[in-house]
Amino acid sequence: MTTKVLLATRNAKKLEELRRILLKRGLGDITVLGLSDVDEFPEAPETGATFEENALAKAYDAAMATGLPAVADDSGLSVDELNGMPGVLSARWAGQHGDDEANLRLVLSQLRDTPDERRGAAFVCAAALVVPDREEVVVRGEWRGTIIREPRGTNGFGYDPIFVPEGEQRTSAELEPSEKDSASHRGRALRSLLPHLRDLVHD
Ligand code: IMP
Repeated sequence: MTTKVLLATRNAKKLEELRRILLKRGLGDITVLGLSDVDEFPEAPETGATFEENALAKAYDAAMATGLPAVADDSGLSVDELNGMPGVLSARWAGQHGDDEANLRLVLSQLRDTPDERRGAAFVCAAALVVPDREEVVVRGEWRGTIIREPRGTNGFGYDPIFVPEGEQRTSAELEPSEKDSASHRGRALRSLLPHLRDLVHD
């Protein structure tokens, strides 16, 4: 018997990443659906003050609308020198949702006078699992690194070209996708959900 889980996203890369992680951990019999695989339902705007609140709200709406176990994530960049911002505003830091180039240029200009030793940052991801009639679960994954001064690399998206993970010389936009999966905030958060997803199969 297959178990269906809805990942509340239209982002094909996130769907592939969760499928790859499940397969690698022997949970390939879980079928991962995306929002384009289910009937449309109203999606509330992301207004939470934390990644956890946003992830939980998205998973809750998806589970209630479809009756399926639903996973959702919310992520962003948290820069030490900016007191944790852009944070939940990462996707629209320069004013317009999803303008990756403008967003990273704004962070670079905000940190122009910040010395190397104070350029620490972390990518953060909260992932939530909501199963109708069960207690919800929210987990967090973090990936620490530093913000460099000029973008490098063409893989990934968002702030990847200006983020060098701890222990690396390359930016996360210069890593292979599989290298990024195994180290990233999202990979870490999704892997923390695995025991709870495994319970769905065995119950
Ligand atoms: P979302 O959680 O997919 O909505 O991501 C929010 C925003 O955080 C994105 O638009 C990016 O700006 C930033 N972000 C999240 N994860 C990453 C990542 O892995 N690399 C680069 N930027 C990221």
